[in-house]
Amino acid sequence: MKRIPLRRCLGCNESKPKNELMRIVRSPEGEISLDLTGKKSGRGAYVCRSRACFSKARKSRRADRCLEVAIPDAVYDLMEKQIAELENNEVEA
Ligand SMILES: [Zn+2]
Repeated sequence: MKRIPLRRCLGCNESKPKNELMRIVRSPEGEISLDLTGKKSGRGAYVCRSRACFSKARKSRRADRCLEVAIPDAVYDLMEKQIAELENNEVEA
């Protein structure tokens, strides 16, 4: 059986399986992006796919500290969009 790696959410501080979290990644070149596949190389910060955790993480700027760089608003906006999409999918399903 394959073990799913756990990562800590910057919102609720709980450790969760990687595939339940969103990943912000800082590439070796220093570029910040949202990693939806979990396969981009670089240093990652993780947040649950939930609005509550996202809001907390954004407000506290913990991801900035975690990655030692300021996360651009565009990346946060993208995450917010992603969460909204997930919420819509849940409503439709
Ligand atoms: Zn969380």
